[in-house]
Amino acid sequence: MLFRHALALLLALGLAACTSTPITGRSRLISAVPLTTELQLGVDAYSEAKSTSKLITSGPDFEMVQRIGQRVAVVAEQMVPEPTSAFEWEFILIDEPETANAWALPGGKTAVYTGLLPITQDEDGLAAVMGHEIAHAVLRHGTERMTQQVALQGFLGVASLGLGDMTASQRDVTMQALSGLGSLGVALPFSRAHESEADEVGLYFAAGAGYDPRAAIGLWERMAANAGGSSPPELLSTHPSHGTRIADLKAWMPTALDIYRKAGGTP
Ligand SMILES: [Zn+2]
Repeated sequence: MLFRHALALLLALGLAACTSTPITGRSRLISAVPLTTELQLGVDAYSEAKSTSKLITSGPDFEMVQRIGQRVAVVAEQMVPEPTSAFEWEFILIDEPETANAWALPGGKTAVYTGLLPITQDEDGLAAVMGHEIAHAVLRHGTERMTQQVALQGFLGVASLGLGDMTASQRDVTMQALSGLGSLGVALPFSRAHESEADEVGLYFAAGAGYDPRAAIGLWERMAANAGGSSPPELLSTHPSHGTRIADLKAWMPTALDIYRKAGGTP
């Protein structure tokens, strides 16, 4: 009930608009948070994450993350020019061997944890994960989620603030909404619709960047096999059942392979 009231309020204020998602065409309600505010929140959250993390800034793994990130970013901007053309991409590698995770904030501020690399195994596998995370950012899933969470929490003013101006709980909710950063407390998981959409669009991004999209199937199978740690990564938080996910990936594969072929790959 509260949620419906809050949505009605948002609509009455003209703060939310029903739009459709690029590529998949899903109808959704998304806040009219200005893109500049969204991007600034991404910058703030990213600098906070960087200041509290041990970063790897050279070496083959670091270079691999840069290479894949840049290639996927080019394709994301070609396929979804708005809002992606306003992104200022950045890719960090965080030295946490126990954390099998990755995320991307608004503006393309992306992180990969070293604990993910044994699961991704090779560049095609890592491209599948980075494509998925980058798709969340490009499709503005964090802002869509923030539209819901912020309405629920009753602090619409968040949209006009930077993280530094917020109370601790506002910051937590906002950062979690933007990134799925579970380490900040109770994670606010992306919805199944968002996860499925990030799987599909991420698959196309990776394929367009010249990475074999078929690697996604083995990757998500290894990821599921690695689940069950103390803090399951966002990557698995609200996913449809594993079988559904693999079936979906197979259904999207002909389109992905077509994109891969056009990018110079050999299906
Ligand atoms: Zn996800």
